[in-house]
Amino acid sequence: MLEGTTALVTGSTSGIGLGVAEALAGQGANIVLNGFGDPAEIEGLRAGLAERHGVRVMHSAADMAEPNAIDLMIREAKDELGPVDILVNNAGIQHVAPVDEFPPEKWDKIIDINLNHAFYTIHHALPDMRAKGWGRIINIASAHGLVASAGKAAYVAAKHGMVGLTKVTALDTAGSGVTCNAICPGWVLTPLVQKQVDSRAASEGIPVEQAKRELLAEKQPGGEFVTPEQIGAYAVFLCSDAARTITGAQIQIDGGWTAQ
Ligand code: NAD
Repeated sequence: MLEGTTALVTGSTSGIGLGVAEALAGQGANIVLNGFGDPAEIEGLRAGLAERHGVRVMHSAADMAEPNAIDLMIREAKDELGPVDILVNNAGIQHVAPVDEFPPEKWDKIIDINLNHAFYTIHHALPDMRAKGWGRIINIASAHGLVASAGKAAYVAAKHGMVGLTKVTALDTAGSGVTCNAICPGWVLTPLVQKQVDSRAASEGIPVEQAKRELLAEKQPGGEFVTPEQIGAYAVFLCSDAARTITGAQIQIDGGWTAQ
């Protein structure tokens, strides 16, 4: 379905981004991986994706906190694979502390990576999508783009901002063949959430499995983690012709979290 297209997924060396990259490659899209990690492991991910799906895959180590690096990444992607047709803004980090104790440098970093990066990627990638008359922008926001949790000031602010950016981008691109939507996942058991599980287990002196169950019970009535594969499948649907009139939407994949 996506043969010959170029899909760039920020923060795709792990977790949700990797799941989305795998799903898009499975439909024939050439992939730009982005993110940090051990170079040999990243090369393994890159080569594995290319081999499994018969697509071209490159990796950019661009730091999504750096606007100039983002500009360069979009240009390198175009040179190597062609203009970006599918842009998935997924890179993100977390820090948990009460707002009055929240370290300002963590605030800045989270706003840069979880929100500002999406503006810069859209800003640089959109002209080529407009020229082609087709494009898909998918922002991986969060249930925290719609509702709040204590201790997550920067994350919740950034994700609400990302939902706002999604709506404006949808309006600015309406009728152009480009759509922009936000996927809002609930808990997905990735390294980002494993850290929160581990710190809960340590602070309450409970086993890790119990900490996982408690984390889910608190927010996600469905009682099971969302998977990167489920989010990848939804991203593929958003790239299909059936989804051409879905734009400016916030799609919750959250086991009922935000229905409460
Ligand atoms: P993860 O920690 O598994 O992966 C994060 C990815 O982002 C990694 O590839 C990492 O290298 C990359 N990254 C981090 N900082 C970067 C930077 N400065 N520049 C480039 N890449 C960078 O996390 P995840 O859980 O897969 O999260 C992915 C996205 O999904 C995040 O935006 C997160 O907020 C969002 N999300 C996660 C959950 C969840 O429960 N895990 C729920 C809702 C939304």
